[in-house]
Amino acid sequence: MALKLFNTLSRSIQEFTPLDSAGKKVGMYCCGPTVYDFAHIGNWRTFVFADLVRRYLEFKGYAVTHVMNITDVEDKIIKRVRETKTSLREFTGKYETAFFADLKTLNCLEPHQTPRATGYIAEIIALIEKLVARGIAYQAADGSVYFSIEKYQGCGCTYGRLLKLNFDELRPGERTRSDEYAKESVTDFALWKARAPEDGDVCWPSPWGEGRPGWHIECSAMSMKVLGESFDLHLGGEDLKFPHHEDEIAQSEGATGKPFAKYWLHGAFLLVEGKKMSKSLGNFFMLRDLLAKGFTGREIRHLLLTAHYRETFNFTLEGLQGARAALARIDECISKLRDISSSTSTGSAGFQPAGSQPKENPAAGRMPALPAALQPFSDSLDEDLNISAGWGAVFEWIRELNRRMAESSLSTTDAAAALAAWNKIDSVLGIGTPADAEAPAEIVALLAARQAARQAKDFKKSDAIRDGLKAKGWTIEDTTQGSKLKKI
Ligand SMILES: [Zn+2]
Repeated sequence: MALKLFNTLSRSIQEFTPLDSAGKKVGMYCCGPTVYDFAHIGNWRTFVFADLVRRYLEFKGYAVTHVMNITDVEDKIIKRVRETKTSLREFTGKYETAFFADLKTLNCLEPHQTPRATGYIAEIIALIEKLVARGIAYQAADGSVYFSIEKYQGCGCTYGRLLKLNFDELRPGERTRSDEYAKESVTDFALWKARAPEDGDVCWPSPWGEGRPGWHIECSAMSMKVLGESFDLHLGGEDLKFPHHEDEIAQSEGATGKPFAKYWLHGAFLLVEGKKMSKSLGNFFMLRDLLAKGFTGREIRHLLLTAHYRETFNFTLEGLQGARAALARIDECISKLRDISSSTSTGSAGFQPAGSQPKENPAAGRMPALPAALQPFSDSLDEDLNISAGWGAVFEWIRELNRRMAESSLSTTDAAAALAAWNKIDSVLGIGTPADAEAPAEIVALLAARQAARQAKDFKKSDAIRDGLKAKGWTIEDTTQGSKLKKI
């Protein structure tokens, strides 16, 4: 089945067909963090969503180039740099490092390229020069360069395709220097901001004098430089539709005369405990706040991935408890499957780690038949990434496996096939399975000593070792495949 996605540009669900004529390569850009603080759980919903899109495209056999920018110069950053009396790089470096650590905690695949805005100043200037040359941008008396919405519309282009905007309010020539503004005041926006005293030494030379780029032009310049003037997918949180994404389209298409991104995907807002996050309500969570409460990255990832990306999601601590219980059900089933599949040496022949699965490419017509367990999961995700239905399919499958294991009707080969299917599903979900608790060497040595005692029929000694292990937090399970250590 073909993948269908809701394209904000057309406001409809469309079949996904990449620009690549071979139907294989996909360019995907997701607006990354503005590194002036730690990312909060609302930000993380967007990045986990982007990770899901990338993983599912890879599951479908596409060769994805995932690009996520780092906004390391804009209004808020400059304000904080001034307040903290640090250098730009020193200030942003700290939050950039924290961001990548959090990304790893949530088991998001690292994007293939993570360009920093400050590394693309030449490209940004070249893009503004193009817009000036085409008469769509102009330098105002304040020294800054602005994008003219009137001139852009005059070229036959439409401003406001992601969001229906009211142009009756548009007053030609009015300008905003701020990166963030309301749609009630659609005005010319800044591409290059002339150096102001409060900018300190955060500035670069340009044909229009010293200054710095506006936030919107950064993304246009970086995405087109890395992925080309036209690319497949552009993602972001829905709060970025206006003005950021509208402005990205206008700047890019205004400069190149070509369509910019083919599909626009927007992740919905996150509420926390039923309300908009706010520091005064005590429901404003950074990832580290939740980890400090004892929750794990995989529990948080699971909860963020339970709802459809276009639905407003209510994130709660109770929901995290639910995620813990859901993961325990998966872990228990996978652990039993592992036991069964490893019960004979030939039984694990069908097992392959996720990374070695053959890639399918539906567009090239090489899609092999999916194992029955994967089909309902894949069918759900093909429908605009209906992840809640996908989870439904996963838990239905787990129920069936548990039933068959309870009646001992699951063969070694079946178990190995189920594990291979799970690895494939998890290449999309990215929740993994905790490695079987690895016992320290001292504990493993005690287990060996107990086995030796049992073989020597010294049961008094073997019982004493068992009690000693228990005191250290480990139990021994004697199974038909031998003795296994289990953490209490
Ligand atoms: Zn952006």
